Amino acid sequence: MTAGLPLDELYDDLGPGGIATGAGMRVYARDSWPQALGWDDARVAAHAPAAVLRPATEEAAAAALAWASRHGVALVPRGAGSGVLGAAIPSRAGAVVLDSARLKGFELRADAEEPVVLAGAGWLGGELERRLDMLGWSLMNFPQSMEDSTVGGWIATDAFGQLSTRYGGVRAQVRGVRVADLDGTVRRESAAPHLGAEGTLGAIAEVALRVRRRPGSRRHYAYEFPGPETALEWAEEAMRKNGPPSVLRLYGPVDAFFNGLKRAGPSSSGAMRERVEALLLKRTGWLNALAPLLGRKWVAVAVYEDEDPYRDAAPPPARGAADLGEGPSRRWWDRRYHLSKERLERTFAAGGFVDTADFWAPLDLLPQVDEAVRAAIRPTP
Ligand SMILES: Cc1cc2nc3c(=O)[nH]c(=O)nc-3n(C[C@H](O)[C@H](O)[C@H](O)COP(=O)(O)OP(=O)(O)OC[C@H]3O[C@@H](n4cnc5c(N)ncnc54)[C@H](O)[C@@H]3O)c2cc1C
Repeated sequence: MTAGLPLDELYDDLGPGGIATGAGMRVYARDSWPQALGWDDARVAAHAPAAVLRPATEEAAAAALAWASRHGVALVPRGAGSGVLGAAIPSRAGAVVLDSARLKGFELRADAEEPVVLAGAGWLGGELERRLDMLGWSLMNFPQSMEDSTVGGWIATDAFGQLSTRYGGVRAQVRGVRVADLDGTVRRESAAPHLGAEGTLGAIAEVALRVRRRPGSRRHYAYEFPGPETALEWAEEAMRKNGPPSVLRLYGPVDAFFNGLKRAGPSSSGAMRERVEALLLKRTGWLNALAPLLGRKWVAVAVYEDEDPYRDAAPPPARGAADLGEGPSRRWWDRRYHLSKERLERTFAAGGFVDTADFWAPLDLLPQVDEAVRAAIRPTP
C-alpha cells in the first residue's frame, strides 16, 4: 500500500519499473500550461500524483484502468506533458498518472494500399520519425513540439503540425486507435471520438497513422510583401495552384523579426537571439513600443517537397514582393522545433511569459483581426 492505494495488486500486471512513487512525482504535477509553469513549490507539490503507472503493454494499461475503476482512483493518462491546457495535471489528491512512455510497439505496413505505421502511444514524434526515416518513410504530422509530444497525445489533443497546409491535422492521418478501457478490455476503435477528448474516454495504447515515402528533396522560397493584404492574396493563389505546398507560413513584422526571416543572409547566433528575446520578454512594454517601428511588411516562407503528384509544383509569382531567396525559409526549417518545452520552461524561469492564441477568420478579414488582437493585448504588462 502507498498513500492508501492498493498498488500491490498491480505489481504482477505492470512488472518491474511499472510503478513509481515518492521522489520524482513532482515532474508529473504539471504539463506545459503557461499558468502552471509559474507555480511555486507548494502549488507544484499539491498537484503531484500519488503514483505513476507505466504499463509496457496494452493489457497492462487495461489492467491499470480496471484497477483505478475498481478502487475509485482518479487516473490521468499522460504522454510527454507538452499539452498547454493543463489537462494532464492531476487535480485531485490521491490521483495517479498513467504514463504512456513504455508503450512502444512498432509495425510498419508499407505494402498496404494505404501505408500505415501502428505505433505504441508512447512514441515521441521525433523518435518515431527517425525510426521511419531509416526505413525510407515519413510521418505527416509535425507539431512544433515534435521532440516533446507523443502520438497518443496527438490524438487526445487533436493536434495539428507544420505540414498541415498539405496533409491536414492528425485527424486526417489517423486510421484507428487501440484503446484500453475502464472495464479492463482493449479495443480497436475509430479515432473519431478520441480526437480532442483529452483522455476522458480511455487510454490510447496504439495509433495507426498514415505514412508517406520520405521526401528526397525540398525547395525553399521566401518573399517580403508590402503588407498583409498582398501576402494573403499570394498565399491564397499558392494554395490553389498545383495543390498546397508542404509548408506555407506568413509572418507579420514582429514575428518575422523574432524568427530572423527579414534577411536573405545567414542567421545570427542562436545564443545571442535567445538573450535578446529573454530581455524583450521581460520588458514587454519595450517590445510593444518597438513593434510599430518594424513597419507593415510581411514575410512568407514556402517549402515544396519532391513527392508526387506535386513534383513540379512551385509558388506563383509574388508580384510586388521582394524575393528573399531561399535563406529565410531554410532558416525557418532548421529552427522549426526551436520553441521546445524545455526552452519554454527556461523562458518562464527567466521571468518571461509566452502563450499561444489561435484565431480564425475569412482571409479578407485576417489583417483586421490581426490588428485588433494585437491592439487588445498591447497594454498587457
Ligand atoms: C513548445 C510547444 C509547441 C507546441 N506546438 C504544437 C503544435 O505545433 N501543434 C499542436 O497541435 N500542439 C502543439 N503543442 C501542444 C502539445 O504539444 C500537443 O497538444 C501534443 O499533442 C500533446 O502531446 P503530449 O504527449 O505531450 O500530451 P500530454 O501533454 O501528456 O497530454 C495532453 C492531453 O492528452 C491526454 N493524453 C496523453 N496521452 C494519452 C493517451 N495515451 N491516451 C489518452 N489520453 C492521453 C492527457 O490526459 C491530456 O489531456 C505545443 C506545445 C509546446 C510546449
